[in-house]
Amino acid sequence: MPSHCVVDIDTAPFKGSIKLNTGLFIDGQWVDPVDSKEMIDVINPSTGKTISQVSLGSSKDVNIAVKAAKMAYKTSWGLKCPGATRGRLLTRLADLIERDIDEFAALEALNAGKPFHIAKAQDMAGVIQWIRYFGGWADKIQGNTIETSEQKLAYTRHEPYGVVGQIIPWNFPMLMLAWKVGPALATGNCIVFKPSEMTPLSALKFADLVNEAGFPPGVVNLVNGYGTTVGQAISEHMDIAKVAFTGSTLVGRKILEASARTNLKVVTLELGGKSPTIIFDDCNLEQTVKWASLAMYSNMGQACVAGSRIFVQEGIYPQFMEKFTAIVRDLGRATGDPFSSTTRHGPQVSKVQFDRIMGYIESGKESGATVHLGGARHGTEGFFIQPTIFTDCTPDMKIVKEEIFGPVAAILKFKTEEEVIEAANATVYGLSSCIFSENISRALRVAHAIESGSAFVNSAQTVESSVPFGGFKQSGIGREHGEYALATYTQVKGVHVNLGMMI
Ligand code: NAD
Repeated sequence: MPSHCVVDIDTAPFKGSIKLNTGLFIDGQWVDPVDSKEMIDVINPSTGKTISQVSLGSSKDVNIAVKAAKMAYKTSWGLKCPGATRGRLLTRLADLIERDIDEFAALEALNAGKPFHIAKAQDMAGVIQWIRYFGGWADKIQGNTIETSEQKLAYTRHEPYGVVGQIIPWNFPMLMLAWKVGPALATGNCIVFKPSEMTPLSALKFADLVNEAGFPPGVVNLVNGYGTTVGQAISEHMDIAKVAFTGSTLVGRKILEASARTNLKVVTLELGGKSPTIIFDDCNLEQTVKWASLAMYSNMGQACVAGSRIFVQEGIYPQFMEKFTAIVRDLGRATGDPFSSTTRHGPQVSKVQFDRIMGYIESGKESGATVHLGGARHGTEGFFIQPTIFTDCTPDMKIVKEEIFGPVAAILKFKTEEEVIEAANATVYGLSSCIFSENISRALRVAHAIESGSAFVNSAQTVESSVPFGGFKQSGIGREHGEYALATYTQVKGVHVNLGMMI
């Protein structure tokens, strides 16, 4: 019998015990790994202390999970299951997540350090929305008929891949899972997924709800473990036809290489960014400073779309800096216990990430940038870092070029539209951009000129389940959300029917 853990949280606004299965979820059951008796320590980033342990899977467990998924695909899912039934199950799953929203938000707060009220209102509300949205698509997966000649009927079918692998990051453990699980299940694929080894707790609870919702066994399988073992086994597996990954560009490359070495599985990647926030003199300053702060510091800067290069036009620079600094200082004052209702800034996810970010802050100082605000750890325990602003930045600095994935903004001054477009595009990344100007012609001109998969005009981070999301350049391959996501989980077959051609 695989082990359980009970997570007790005795802090308002969540007080209670959450019972979790800590094994692997394969073929609709909780099982122990085949080989390892080792466990993974799950850490609370607010304290650095262990919350619990979860099972450590291996490539053997991935093999078993893929077999179960293949069987489920053949017997009870894929083309065997009507779209309307898949849609109903997804809707039921969304309802169950909504029923347990407080428990999910508490697990995200405990394990990922997100402020509870934000995890509930944003992450989990998003999860529910995404799963419902894709539930709605499940019975609308359609091909086309194509006119060729009177003697032929030609049409297309959008068929699922079969078994897909999904490798989930730690920055939005449940939201990134929903972004992937929703379209995969709507289109009739079975899933073998791996949560991040750092933030597995909410995924354990999710797996229980998959059973409660009534999905056939084997449709969704969870294998906990490390990237270099379980993640690699998923990306190399000969019977996995597609892998979806969100995480670092470095690992994204490895997944593509694994696909090239093995079965040429389709790979979609959602990778890093160094997104520009561009602020023109004619912006609505009161609104702009709030959006720019959200773009940069939400989720403690651990967002692939983080607007970490802030370009400010010289005419508004002093006013912008005054107001932006005040807002970020306020955010710094709202740093602390994720379960407090006044907290808006929690810890970084892990000691490794904390050290990485502090390394970047040191590098910024050494390269001659000025710490305008923050620049140090917050408190003495856990992995908290003060919201940080660097000024006097130049394009050659590491803090301007590389993804920091923490609460560290680099401010750069500019004069002209042409100059800022060139500077904003001088990066290997191309995930997102924010443009602030009350001159809508200019704002749209710049939004179109920036090489990024998303552009937010006079706003930031307001992603939608129906609007495609993904990267240009080294920020990714493929798109999530909307109809575009369905296309990445289906393969198109052209069917040719002879209505009277003779040979
Ligand atoms: P990572 O890319 O190593 O981890 C993301 C996921 O990939 C985890 O589930 C991990 O176990 C898995 N993984 C790791 N090595 C693998 C391999 N060889 N094969 C298959 N899967 C593998 O990210 P990280 O080390 O946790 O963070 C490093 C940096 O990555 C961050 O600082 C940030 O810049 C970036 N990152 C980006 C995102 C994003 O949303 N785009 C998310 C997380 C991390």
